[in-house]
Amino acid sequence: MTIPMFDLHRQYTTLKTELDEALGDVMSSMDFIKGQAVTRFEKQLQDYLHIKHVIGVGNGTDALYLALLATHIGVGDEVIVPAFTFVSPVEAIVRVGATPIFVDIDPHTFNIDAREIEPHITPHTKAIIPVHLFGQCADMTTIVTLAQKYHLVVIEDACQVMGALHNGRHAGTFGDIGCTSFFPTKTLGCYGDGGAVFTSDDVLAEEVRMLAQHGMRQKYHYEKIGINSRLDTIQATILEVKLRHLEQHIEQRITIAKQYDELLWGNKHIILPTCVERDRHVYHQYTIQLVDVNRDVVREKMLRRGVTTMVYYPTPIHLQPAYHFLGYTKGSLPITESMCDRVLSLPIFPEMSCEEVKYVCKTLLEVL
Ligand SMILES: *Cc1c(COP(=O)(O)O)cnc(C)c1O
Repeated sequence: MTIPMFDLHRQYTTLKTELDEALGDVMSSMDFIKGQAVTRFEKQLQDYLHIKHVIGVGNGTDALYLALLATHIGVGDEVIVPAFTFVSPVEAIVRVGATPIFVDIDPHTFNIDAREIEPHITPHTKAIIPVHLFGQCADMTTIVTLAQKYHLVVIEDACQVMGALHNGRHAGTFGDIGCTSFFPTKTLGCYGDGGAVFTSDDVLAEEVRMLAQHGMRQKYHYEKIGINSRLDTIQATILEVKLRHLEQHIEQRITIAKQYDELLWGNKHIILPTCVERDRHVYHQYTIQLVDVNRDVVREKMLRRGVTTMVYYPTPIHLQPAYHFLGYTKGSLPITESMCDRVLSLPIFPEMSCEEVKYVCKTLLEVL
């Protein structure tokens, strides 16, 4: 048996009729930029998330950059962010000229440790960017309370959590702005690059729309220096179809995760992922921690038996060459660094069969 991390072919096979028909409509309209599907999808996502504005943009990284521009964060400002993340939020902070201030993570959820934020707040702190990792929402209750106390902007990196809930509310809708990505393998993914910004604030929504189209509200009149970042019609069309199946896909992911939990429970080398009680984890990744074993050897042996695994993320951002100038060193963020050494993500995608999950578990347990 060979099992990939994610199987886009299988998903396309199950949705082929719907997708091909929808794509056929775009091809006959030739309305590739700002087509009707974009506005329709934005509205559908607003309804799904229960949020006032959704603005489609080019990708998740642009969404974060636009959110920082729209909230006027720049030179001299500090932004609190985890270092155990994909690079985008940190890259966006540096791009606007602000300084990332790294805060360590909670080893149970892999998300920013909300209790560790307050000691890092200074008179220069302007914003917090929690990154909701692997499908689970960070502790937004604590983060929003802190932000109110210190008048900080909250920009949520919700690129891995479409559909995740915290206290019954969608991840990405707690802060001033939420940002997401529709990269093909995300929980809600398109067939290329895509992203969105969400907000309930009319002024911020207007500002993001303007900045995402060269800083113009009126054609050829540039109010601000913006960028060109849009969700194209073909991607919006795919997303309209996929959004209709999102709840089912999430249920399938949760079922697979539960099966993993049961089959892997009780091994002394494995720490299972924690799902915060009453919240909904959407398992963008099913990530375990391996203790007292050589992870590379485990991965190699699993691969030889056909099971692909991934390490998200092998090196934290504060130890990356590009971010060396920030002055962090090994030992600055002990939990983040230890997680980078321990984590292992197992294959998970909605179409994965029960037999495949069993095979992954059997292989892993035998290798251990
Ligand atoms: C995927 C991802 C992004 C960036 O998304 P792109 O659409 O590839 O730019 C940002 N943050 C996190 C946490 C992600 O997983």
